[in-house]
Amino acid sequence: SQVAHHFAVHAKRMAPTHASYDYIVIGGGSGGSGAARRAAGWYGARTLLVENGRSGGTCVNVGCVPKKMTWYFASVNETLKGAHNYFYEIPDVKFHFDKFKKRRDESILRLNGVYERNWTREGIDLVHGTARFIGQKEIEVDLQDGSGKSTFTANHILIATGGYPLLPGIVGAEHGITSDGFFDMEYLPQKIAVVGAGYIAVELAGVLNAIGVEVHMFLRGDTFLRTFDPMIQETMTKAYEDAGVIIHKRYPGFKRIERLDRSPASVADGEAHEKRADGPSPDKHLRITDNEGQIYDFNELLWAIGRAPETQDLHLDVPGIQLSKTGHIAVDEFQNTNIPGIYALGDVTGQAELTPVAIAAGRQLGNRLFGPPELKSARLEYEGIPTVVFSHPEVGAIGLTEPQAVEKYGRENVKVYKTKFTAMYFDVFPAEEKAKHPTQYKLVCAGPNEKVVGLHILGEGSGEMLQGFGVALKMGATKADFDSCVAIHPTSAEELVTLR
Ligand code: FAD
Ligand code: NDP
Repeated sequence: SQVAHHFAVHAKRMAPTHASYDYIVIGGGSGGSGAARRAAGWYGARTLLVENGRSGGTCVNVGCVPKKMTWYFASVNETLKGAHNYFYEIPDVKFHFDKFKKRRDESILRLNGVYERNWTREGIDLVHGTARFIGQKEIEVDLQDGSGKSTFTANHILIATGGYPLLPGIVGAEHGITSDGFFDMEYLPQKIAVVGAGYIAVELAGVLNAIGVEVHMFLRGDTFLRTFDPMIQETMTKAYEDAGVIIHKRYPGFKRIERLDRSPASVADGEAHEKRADGPSPDKHLRITDNEGQIYDFNELLWAIGRAPETQDLHLDVPGIQLSKTGHIAVDEFQNTNIPGIYALGDVTGQAELTPVAIAAGRQLGNRLFGPPELKSARLEYEGIPTVVFSHPEVGAIGLTEPQAVEKYGRENVKVYKTKFTAMYFDVFPAEEKAKHPTQYKLVCAGPNEKVVGLHILGEGSGEMLQGFGVALKMGATKADFDSCVAIHPTSAEELVTLR
């Protein structure tokens, strides 16, 4: 396949020249790449990068990038569906998801190459294979080109191995797919069950609904995005229902999943906890029985119930690296593990599992280990990280939710400003349609000078709006600072500097 060929070419061309390095980075995803490039490219550290999958990691191959491209694909359909409100006559619209998927794969393959070329240009040696510890300063790699094992030593070793999507311990769980399988889909199922309530469940359910798939979401609670401000949870859950997603709240849990489109022999109850789920297939027929005996039939089942850290292959017991209660690698504020000279960052540590967080942590670690003396205490600040959910509409959040602020500062010291309106784009829509497209903003302020400690937004364009407000909050902006900024009219964003 294209991918196998890609490995073969690059593994050979980039065979390492040193067995001993200043820095070994395990994992060529967001965090590992950011870390290695800062160390080698800026400070000339002799760096080895070990990657056992496709270069660029989760974000590039099965995360942010194909997700956002698919979100754009769905957004085109949403625009077309609303176009008659602007008196466009649109003939029956046909789309070709399979062709889009192929094009998306090509873009990603190109990005894999961009990553590897950047590494080469910066003097980083790359090996494709699975790394494991064989000492505190030594790793062994099973080379992916089949040429055996190599060992490498370094004074500094970084673990940036990311995570993988969880399957629940339910009989037949492996007949469903995870987000990895979602990106293998070449055609769309007619009817899909999405289990979960976090970023991935909400983003992928939203995309599928917007392109005409019958989507059922199964939630343990009454709302999704439960780590977000209550305004976001409530309004977005309702917006999804209004958009046609069938939401099963407080579902009792699934008992059994059977695959009915295969011969009975292969339908035998599969191993639970398997890491890799079944791939999608055009004639898939799954029968789900829940814990109350209710039966559902679906063409696909997407598990989006969280991710686990990728640590199994690393032999962490050899150096004696400690894990946290959740099984993530435990690190201090400088990304140090309990073993001197071994560091960890990104999803494997479970700290704000976002690409720019992993990259920023990697760069700061590079600064600290190999940079000039004034950077000897460099570290990433984990407070005030902006985050966007690419839902329909998008959601953005920075800092504390209202309940978190009340808990931290006391109700009497918290002032909340909020607004709710219809974005101008929907003005021409009929009233009942307008009501289905909410925009809501909230500022959470604390203390006598009303420092903005939380900002929560939902509505069209939230994704692009949030970054600038991130800068303001990072600088410690107060409500008065927001008010002193002149509005840009007519936009939705202007409402955030005119709140009363
Ligand atoms: P990864 O990117 O997962 O990289 C780890 C790498 O290590 C992998 O390439 C893996 O193959 C390799 N590896 C693992 N074990 C070994 C070993 N023993 N030896 C050698 N190599 C090994 N974040 C955002 O900011 N915005 C988004 O829009 C967004 N969307 C997402 C959508 C989805 C569906 C998913 C799943 C995630 C999304 N994320 C998003 C999260 C983001 O992808 C991760 O936070 C980010 O990729 C973490 O980077 P990392 O370097 O820690 O791990
Ligand atoms: P999350 O941790 O965000 O969400 C998983 C959710 O699944 C939980 O919040 C939980 O919700 C629900 N859940 C758990 N078990 C069950 C169950 N048995 N049945 C039903 N629901 C269940 O994980 P994701 O996998 O969605 O995403 C992983 C991380 O990747 C995110 O936290 C985020 O950091 C990152 N990411 C970022 C994106 C972005 O930046 N746009 C996009 C995608 C991922 P509850 O407790 O309410 O039941």
